[in-house]
Amino acid sequence: MTTTTLAIANQKGGVAKTTTVASLGAALAELGHKVLLVDLDPQACLTFSLGIDPEDLEFSVHHVLTKGLAPSEVIIETEDGVDLMPATIELARAEADLLTRTGREHVIKGAIEDLEEAGIHYDWVLLDCPPSLGVLTVAGLTAADGVLIPLQCETLSHRGVGQLLDTVHDVRKFTNRKLKVWGVLPTLFDGRTNHSRTVLETISETYELDVIEPPIPKTIKFAEAPAAGRSILATNKSNKGAMAYREVAANLVKRKKK
Ligand code: ADP
Ligand code: MG
Repeated sequence: MTTTTLAIANQKGGVAKTTTVASLGAALAELGHKVLLVDLDPQACLTFSLGIDPEDLEFSVHHVLTKGLAPSEVIIETEDGVDLMPATIELARAEADLLTRTGREHVIKGAIEDLEEAGIHYDWVLLDCPPSLGVLTVAGLTAADGVLIPLQCETLSHRGVGQLLDTVHDVRKFTNRKLKVWGVLPTLFDGRTNHSRTVLETISETYELDVIEPPIPKTIKFAEAPAAGRSILATNKSNKGAMAYREVAANLVKRKKK
């Protein structure tokens, strides 16, 4: 199977990017796929939520992107059955370090190619982008085959989408022609109201975006999973949020095969 790299991006914080990366990663691993998750957020929430304390790490994604360390030196196996390229707060400096570097947009793409050349194959690489449209997000989009845009369906949630799509457009033009928007993924979805559906329909029509099904329902269990150091798929196997992520994963697999 070829590698499919997806950037999970939205410059708005709190829209469930990290939760989506951890949950989809676990769901794809359950389906027998080999998965690498890359934490591109200096806050290192993904790293924490997979049970790893960034303070304990000598090396992290920062060293791969700016110091030339081989990705295989940094990757950790997690209990969720996925591999992780972890982040630490040092990644905050990478943004500045990279700004003056030639080829900065290609650092993540290069790291994934290095892995393949070293004979380490993944079916999926999921990139947990930071809440900005800076160098790291652009490098993530440059490495990606597709973008998933998690979106909380509230009245004002469309405001950042146009800006994100402008960035995608620039990336397509200058650094990665094959980049495709796979769609918006409705998160923190409150199915009891018609409002969420209406907002979602408006956004997908305005920007001509596909909607990835099913929406991920809002459930309290998500708040508890990171503290356990496991994804919700492990802590609450039959939770409706976990089930929704499994369905989304199955749909992504179908799309990959097409
Ligand atoms: P981002 O990475 O976009 O900033 P997170 O994945 O960190 O967003 O999620 C933000 C907060 O929302 C976290 O506290 C997370 O536990 C919570 N959360 C995510 N998805 C859900 C959900 N489906 N239901 C309830 N809470 C959720
Ligand atoms: Mg996050």
